[in-house]
Parts: sequence; C-alpha cells; structure tokens
Amino acid sequence: MERVIQKAYAKINIGLDVLRRREDGYHELKMIMQTVDICDDLIIEKTADPGILIRTDCMDIPTDGSNLICKAARLLLEEKGIEAGVRIVLTKRIPVAAGMAGGSSDAAAAMRGVNELFDMGYSVQELQTLGLKLGADIPYCLVGGTMLSQGIGEILTPLPPPPDCLLVVAKPDINVSTAFVYGHLRVSELDAHPDIDGMVRALYEGSLNGIASRLGNVLETVTVREYPVIQEIKELFCRMGAKNALMSGSGPSVFGIFTDRESAEQAARATEQRGLARQIYVTAFKQDIMQ
Ligand code: ATP
Repeated sequence: MERVIQKAYAKINIGLDVLRRREDGYHELKMIMQTVDICDDLIIEKTADPGILIRTDCMDIPTDGSNLICKAARLLLEEKGIEAGVRIVLTKRIPVAAGMAGGSSDAAAAMRGVNELFDMGYSVQELQTLGLKLGADIPYCLVGGTMLSQGIGEILTPLPPPPDCLLVVAKPDINVSTAFVYGHLRVSELDAHPDIDGMVRALYEGSLNGIASRLGNVLETVTVREYPVIQEIKELFCRMGAKNALMSGSGPSVFGIFTDRESAEQAARATEQRGLARQIYVTAFKQDIMQ
C-alpha cells in the first residue's frame, strides 16, 4: 500500500470541569468529550526520501516540524526505525485554535494512517500511549465517540451516545490560546462546577433535556470574560430555539443544541448576519470516526 486516506473529526465538550492544578502544572480534568460531524481529510503517501512533507489549504497553521501531524508521523517512523518518509495533504475544515481539538485530531489521524501505511501493527492502546506524549487530547481523538475523560485526558471511559439532535457550532473570529486560558484559571476560586456525574446519568437515560440542562464548562470563566462575543452567541442561540448552548474546550467555539432544522439554520444565519462569527456549521453528533 502506497497511500491511505484518513478523516480527522472535531470534538466538543458537553461538560468540562477542572478539579485541581497538579504540582507538575497539568490540570486534573473531568470532562465529557463528543465527536461532531466536522472533519479534516488527510491523504498520506509514502515517499522514498526521508522526511515529512505537509501540504494544506489552510493558511493559519504551520507546515514545518511544529505541525502536530508532522510530530505524530515522525514519532511513529522513529519508533520503528523506518527510513522512508511521508507526504501528507491536509484539507482543513475544523476551525483552528477553536477548542475543537483540530490539531490533536489531525495528529491522531496521522498516527492511524502511518500505522496502517507501514504495517506497523500498533494497537489502538499503544497508539494512545505514544500519542499522549504529543498532546492530552490525542488518546481520545484516536477513538472518538462519547467518552468521560479524566486525569489529564488519558483516562477514558466510553459512554452511551447522546440522542440525535442538531448542533449549531460558531467560531468567532478570535484565536484563543489554550495555554492562556488554563494559565488564567483560578480553580480554588470557582464558585460552581458542572454536574458531570448528572450528565453521565442523563446519557445513560438517553435524555436530551437532561443533557442540555447540565451543559457546563469552567473554562468559560476565563474565556467569556476576555471575549464577551461568546456570551452573545450563546444568548442568541438560546433565543433562537436552542435547548441550551456552551463554549467548547478553551473556546472560543460555541455550540447550541437544537431539535429542529429550521431553527438551527435560522440561528446560524442570524449569527452570521450580526457579524458574531464567520465560521458557522449546522452539524450533528457523530459516533463512529472510522466512517
Ligand atoms: P484544543 O481543543 O486541543 O485545545 P484547539 O482546537 O483549541 O485545540 P488547534 O486547532 O488544535 O486548537 O490549534 C492550536 C494550535 O496548534 C494553533 O496555534 C495551530 O497553529 C497549531 N497547530 C499545529 N498543528 C496543527 C494542525 N495540524 N491543525 C491545527 N492546528 C495546528
């Protein structure tokens, strides 16, 4: 095999709690990750010359060794002592620096693809252990679906999928640094924590109302203060018929949960017309990242 194609799906967090800051500087998290139907495409080809070449239609990300795809491919090739190189063509649709794990998902897709292309024989668990070295979201992105994620993101427990619904995802025109958000979070001063255990119960009950009423993300305390447009979008979504709305990850993407397409499309149009965001998607939850 000389070439493989992989899809890299975005995620949102329907619940995100930070329990404490560890001595090593990492934050201990308790969050619920959910794949959404927005994806990048990677075409991965073997090249005779060593090295990793990245081509992309996206101007906002590096194509040198700092691209997470490059780090992921290099990690696997070096682990196996493979001399050949790869050429990776990335078609980017997941908004960048958005809180939707675009880079981590691309890295995970590169790992799956390189593993397959070179018949490396790594299991998913082995890829997850290797991937964690590059980013805390990568173990999740290797499997996707609905997961309770704990520790720094490496302890994953599968959960039942949420009931079908529509999502409107809007990424305001600002780039938020994940490091800035965690750096300014004061865990001891938080006066409310999302009900993650209740969210898990709502997933087991298949209750969309139970899920929507428990949406919560402690990182909003930092990002929304800095960028009020996030709150504006959340309020607009709720006025336009969303059951509820939340910022994903460290932001600034916002998603709203809708049950009818007309309201979802109207909310998407209104967000654009008011100039609150340009990257807007009407999408859905996705369970199987291999399809
Ligand atoms: P997370 O939700 O994991 O915090 P994010 O969605 O907020 O991530 P990314 O889109 O992954 O953010 O981008 C974060 C940074 O990583 C950007 O500054 C970007 O330049 C860099 N980066 C490196 N490689 C990639 C890649 N393949 N795709 C997107 N961004 C990348």
